[in-house]
Amino acid sequence: MAQRIDTLIFPGWVVPVEPAGALADHALAIHQGVILGVLPATEARARYSAQEILSLPNHVLIPGLVNLHTHAAMSLLRGFADDLPLKDWLQSHIWPAERANISSRFVKDGSLLACAEMLKGGITCFNDMYFFPQATAEAVLENGMRANIGMIVMDLPTPYASDGADYLAKGLACRDRLRGEPSLSFSFAPHAPYTVGDENFRHIATLAEQIGAPIHCHLHETSDEIEKSEGRYGMRPLERLARLGLLGPDFIGFHAVHLTAFEIDTLAHYGCHIAHCPASNLKLASGLPRVSQLLDAGVNVGIGTDGAASNNRLDLFAEMRLAALLAKGISGKATVLPAFDVIKAATLCGAIALGLDEKIGSLKPGKRADMVAVDLSGPETQPVFDPVSHLVYVASRENVSHVWVDGQLKVDNGKLTAFDISDLKARASYWSAKLSILQS
Ligand SMILES: [Zn+2]
Repeated sequence: MAQRIDTLIFPGWVVPVEPAGALADHALAIHQGVILGVLPATEARARYSAQEILSLPNHVLIPGLVNLHTHAAMSLLRGFADDLPLKDWLQSHIWPAERANISSRFVKDGSLLACAEMLKGGITCFNDMYFFPQATAEAVLENGMRANIGMIVMDLPTPYASDGADYLAKGLACRDRLRGEPSLSFSFAPHAPYTVGDENFRHIATLAEQIGAPIHCHLHETSDEIEKSEGRYGMRPLERLARLGLLGPDFIGFHAVHLTAFEIDTLAHYGCHIAHCPASNLKLASGLPRVSQLLDAGVNVGIGTDGAASNNRLDLFAEMRLAALLAKGISGKATVLPAFDVIKAATLCGAIALGLDEKIGSLKPGKRADMVAVDLSGPETQPVFDPVSHLVYVASRENVSHVWVDGQLKVDNGKLTAFDISDLKARASYWSAKLSILQS
């Protein structure tokens, strides 16, 4: 007798990521938010009787995308200041705007807007670093996606916290309140080597070891920060972090644009992970990271969007295409970072970096049903020789039709199920009215 389950999905193709490649004529069996099986369609029909059967013959089903680096609430600063070098952009535009505006309400509104954008584009999990992390966590809990919440630490006072001890106390209090939530995880998030002093870094290293929490930090994003570090500390930031005891298999460095061969080996030696954010690096002219060398050395590389103030899209389809093209252009080798490896970087490698690969990152029996259906029926995606190639080189987030988190449908035929769009627009226009005063 057939086993009664919640859902059977019959897509045109499945790219489960584990194993590699695309499967045709397969079905996914889902029950209580868990993937029971990825099996031939005829076998699925015989074995299961589902409450809901979904036929998607023109679609490719992939794991939910993992955005390995973002500042979700900065969606409210999208397009606020563009075409400027990072230092000027940050110090003369973004930081003053943040000082005048950030609050729990700003972060909640901006995070909700970002979650809507990310879900609609197939992102089911994101790794955040921002002020008032409790407000971002609340936004995530409201709409049912997943996030790792960074407990941000800086030496500089902001409307969120006054000094290192205050940042840490507030971050840890948020973690204490919400660590039982299955859709959330937490990490220490010292902002960057140029905004955090040795004392706070040492304190974070000790606390991280005591409570078993990961550490995430911006790393070697610009050559300017490396020169300043050499002047101030007599060494480059990565060496400083190594000496302070920050590096290890729970460490994620964001960007890693400027690395020597020795530093690439150092990252591999410690088992660190890198969040590659190609659009943000290009837009801020930070430089071009040597992703193929990082991969050759065995460093785990995931993909991130960075915040909407520097990108300006929270769009992993755009990042996947850029990552593939840049790796080839920089290395001079067209074989570098083939399409499948890029999809793996945007899914499983991100999950591995976050320590969530037992739960998400591939469509494997036993994992949570975080899935994305991409519609390949339009003229722009015809013909389909290889859906893996199309996902990276042809498809865009506009082709995302269905998104599930934990087996729950969050995007249904292109429509967000957990958001009131007019409410989101009202929140965005409230803040744009306040922020535009600063621009004049
Ligand atoms: Zn960033």
